[in-house]
Amino acid sequence: MKPAPFDYVVPETAEEAVSCLQKYEDDGIEATVLAGGQSFVPLLNMRMARPDVVVDLRKLKTLKYIREEDGVIAIGAMTTKREVEESELIQQRQPLFHASTLEIGHLQIRSRGTVGGSMAQADPAAEYPAVALALGMEMKILGTDGERIVPADEFFITYLTTEIDSTELLTEVRVPVLAEGTGWSFQELARRHGDFAIVGGAVTLRLDGGVCTDPHIVLFGVGATPVRMTAAESAISGQAPSAELFAQAGEQGAAELESPMADVHASAEYRRHLAKVIIKRCLLEATERAGGSVS
Ligand SMILES: Cc1cc2nc3c(=O)[nH]c(=O)nc-3n(C[C@H](O)[C@H](O)[C@H](O)COP(=O)(O)OP(=O)(O)OC[C@H]3O[C@@H](n4cnc5c(N)ncnc54)[C@H](O)[C@@H]3O)c2cc1C
Repeated sequence: MKPAPFDYVVPETAEEAVSCLQKYEDDGIEATVLAGGQSFVPLLNMRMARPDVVVDLRKLKTLKYIREEDGVIAIGAMTTKREVEESELIQQRQPLFHASTLEIGHLQIRSRGTVGGSMAQADPAAEYPAVALALGMEMKILGTDGERIVPADEFFITYLTTEIDSTELLTEVRVPVLAEGTGWSFQELARRHGDFAIVGGAVTLRLDGGVCTDPHIVLFGVGATPVRMTAAESAISGQAPSAELFAQAGEQGAAELESPMADVHASAEYRRHLAKVIIKRCLLEATERAGGSVS
């Protein structure tokens, strides 16, 4: 299929892009932003998206960067996943974010698809939103009134829906550097490498005096947004790591899921089962990376 007809504009700057978006909104014209096109172009082609105007961000080279500033890695929204994959700074300073990038689609998709596009798309089975929640990332959003910063736990609202308003642009994703001594794990189960995950998990924890501290356990592919598994986190906080404890945390995490998604790929019950498996595997791996051993 081919897209329905649309007008096409290519702003030169982020400020010009937001003033275009504001003008279209004021005039009652539906405009949608195009970044790498890896999610949006298929929707256009299938006519599931029929905007009046496509605002292409391809000239916004100023939104393509990766740099460290005061313990935070700032990534411009138009940076591709391939650029993240090849960044030594990210490999060394934020290995969890790097590892999750390698699980996104295939090389061709990572070469076109942008970091900002994945956050804005907010697919419930996507890797980056889960990692954003696990790492406490922040999103910088530009509108005609200026910039605002939104923490990840307020950014993802529901299925394919974020805090970004139709007149705004996501301009930067801010990733805290992984603190020394932090163990991490990123795991997902998918039918084939490159597929969206059926269920996946992103975990960080520290070991302090031989007990688990400050655990962050996030699952994705189980609901409309990634979910922080607070009962599982409480179950391991202050406890010495053990296979039995982590299996219990998996049970608690699975019980915590109100109604896991069901679709052609997996039933709700199968997803609940995978949630247990993923939580336990992630906790074992994160403990090892934190320098601990599991009894
Ligand atoms: C075969 C295939 C397999 C895939 N597998 C995976 C996978 O395993 N995991 C995964 O996470 N993704 C996967 N994807 C999706 C891919 O990662 C996309 O790159 C990503 O979802 C969107 O990024 P994009 O730059 O292509 O954005 P686009 O497709 O251009 O845009 C996506 C949405 O975000 C909005 N948007 C984009 N940038 C901005 C911005 N700066 N500000 C505001 N709104 C913005 C657009 O308006 C649009 O609504 C797959 C895609 C394909 C085709």
